Amino acid sequence: MNGRLQRLRTRLHERQLDALLVTQPENRRYLTGFTGSAGTVVVTPERALLLVDFRYVEQAGREAPGLEIVPAKNRLEEDLKPLLREVGGRRWGFESTHVTVAQHEKLRPLFQEAGIELEGVEGLVEGLRAIKEPEELALVREAIRVTDEAFEHFLRWVRPGVTEREAAWELEKTMRENGAEALAFPIIVASGPNGAMPHHRAGDRPLQRGEPIVIDMGAVYQGYQADMTRTICLGEADGRFWEIYRLVRAAQERAEAGIRAGMPSAEADGLAREMIAAAGYGEQFGHGLGHSIGLSTHEMPQLSPRFHDPLPAGCTVTVEPGIYLPGWGGVRIEDVVLVREDGAEVLTRSSKEPLVVV
Ligand code: ZN
Ligand code: ZN
Repeated sequence: MNGRLQRLRTRLHERQLDALLVTQPENRRYLTGFTGSAGTVVVTPERALLLVDFRYVEQAGREAPGLEIVPAKNRLEEDLKPLLREVGGRRWGFESTHVTVAQHEKLRPLFQEAGIELEGVEGLVEGLRAIKEPEELALVREAIRVTDEAFEHFLRWVRPGVTEREAAWELEKTMRENGAEALAFPIIVASGPNGAMPHHRAGDRPLQRGEPIVIDMGAVYQGYQADMTRTICLGEADGRFWEIYRLVRAAQERAEAGIRAGMPSAEADGLAREMIAAAGYGEQFGHGLGHSIGLSTHEMPQLSPRFHDPLPAGCTVTVEPGIYLPGWGGVRIEDVVLVREDGAEVLTRSSKEPLVVV
């Protein structure tokens, strides 16, 4: 964790900040190793403090041995009062994308009184999190392995007539049995026309032969997340299915073959989008190509026409083009890839052969 704190301090120095208040849960965990659900980190050029309430004092001491643990009451405005006097400084940053307006209204007079400027900052810790360290990559790979294995089991298990909910439960159960500590998000099983809704949740509809079935799932392993989508078809598939499926797969594989570090996000997105648009389905691919993944399912950078920053080497991003046709359904295929200088390494191993013999 020390390297992470040092890298953050370099950024604080660049921004002329004397301290940063970290309240965003994954950022807190990333900087300290503390996995509890509440707490505030204060990072200064010399110190790193972790304010936690009674429930977490012992746990914080074990998980974050390098930090000064400060028993607190979970009322930031009161907990910070003595610290402001003790730490001082001219300008402190807070995470403006996480602190609520109500919290900010309580903090503002406190800082005014102490004569310290309170400045909202975005993406400081998130920027560090974008580039995965080797230990983080090992955990992402493990989360993916658990996800891949559950899907492999599912392909042998699934039959027409089981409901979306039953299918989702089988996947959930298998991931948990194989070592997942949680699900990255509620599993999507979207059969037939339900697949036209990219984030349909599993319901009571029975799976039927010959229709597209979109399955989006991910395990969590020691905080790190996996995210994978496969589209399958039970029995046999018709010409329409194959047309859409082959197009989405070709677009996805084109993107995976072309993505490399230094490429602007929008350009990476375009690798798949151009191909889908050229086939006349541009309007039916209404979301970005992917997102980074790590301690959260959706991190920066994203692969989207809206973002133009170059992709850093060492980020783990999803590549997930899709086509959604109301009344018919959808096809989405999603892998996690590791972006390197010389190209993208596909980490997801699950088969992309959609036809399931039943
Ligand atoms: Zn997904
Ligand atoms: Zn995703």
